[in-house]
Amino acid sequence: MTNLEALYQEVILDHNRKPRNFREMENADRRIEGRNPLCGDELTLWLKLDGNRVSDISFKGTGCAVSKSSASLMTSTVKGKTVDETMTLFDRFHDMITGKLPEADRASMGSLAALGGVSRFPIRVKCASLAWHALKSALEDGGDNVSTEHEGPPQTEGA
Ligand code: ZN
Repeated sequence: MTNLEALYQEVILDHNRKPRNFREMENADRRIEGRNPLCGDELTLWLKLDGNRVSDISFKGTGCAVSKSSASLMTSTVKGKTVDETMTLFDRFHDMITGKLPEADRASMGSLAALGGVSRFPIRVKCASLAWHALKSALEDGGDNVSTEHEGPPQTEGA
């Protein structure tokens, strides 16, 4: 394991042990539940919007270290961003965990880069993307239950 991989591992473990924004939210504008039946990950996501901006975001749930740390990292990163910025980030994050984001671009992902190694473990992609799919659905559709069960296999061409 390289030093960088060890650092990424530590970020994931830290967010799993002490997930950020791990709480229920009163008076949320959006609430959504997501589940990944393949692994048993479940989470509820709450959002508060101020115009076109995500002013507050929180989650609670149970699941593996990847799903929990991904939700923690996602909420930390997205809070304060506009909906447009959030959607762009969703696409880049999804590209990263499915191996489509060039390695050189990974550094631009900030702490989210810690989850880049997931692209080598296709079974874990759904764990890492669960919170993001819930977020996207909450912003686009106003919130409904989402499941990553029917998501297609990750595409690795162009990696
Ligand atoms: Zn999982």
